[in-house]
Amino acid sequence: MINLKDKLSHLSFIQACKLLGPQGKDHLIQGGMWDVDLEEQVILKRDLFHLDLGEAGVTLRLDPAKNHKIDISCSVCPVYCDHQGAALSLILEEKLALGLAAPPKERVPIESLSDSELVAHAEPD
Ligand SMILES: [Zn+2]
Repeated sequence: MINLKDKLSHLSFIQACKLLGPQGKDHLIQGGMWDVDLEEQVILKRDLFHLDLGEAGVTLRLDPAKNHKIDISCSVCPVYCDHQGAALSLILEEKLALGLAAPPKERVPIESLSDSELVAHAEPD
């Protein structure tokens, strides 16, 4: 099952632009100028992202009716806006801080294993 966090962790700049319509890039750049306090202004759950900008609130969800496409909406603007740009630009820039980018998988280098461990690894299941 796809959840919003998975989707957002794979979000690219191009996809973010597309989500914001024909002027998507401008909204992203304008929105990127907002100073956002992640602790105070952002809520991120498995299937909900909310950014509180004071003058407006931006919500992201997945739309199950549209093949789990990201659905973005602003509490004040009926159309694409800089608030939505701020939300997406924040997600693109703060993936790590938001816990969206999975840390690289830990791998045990083969050189560090002892002889007995190597034998254990060599044994068939
Ligand atoms: Zn707005």
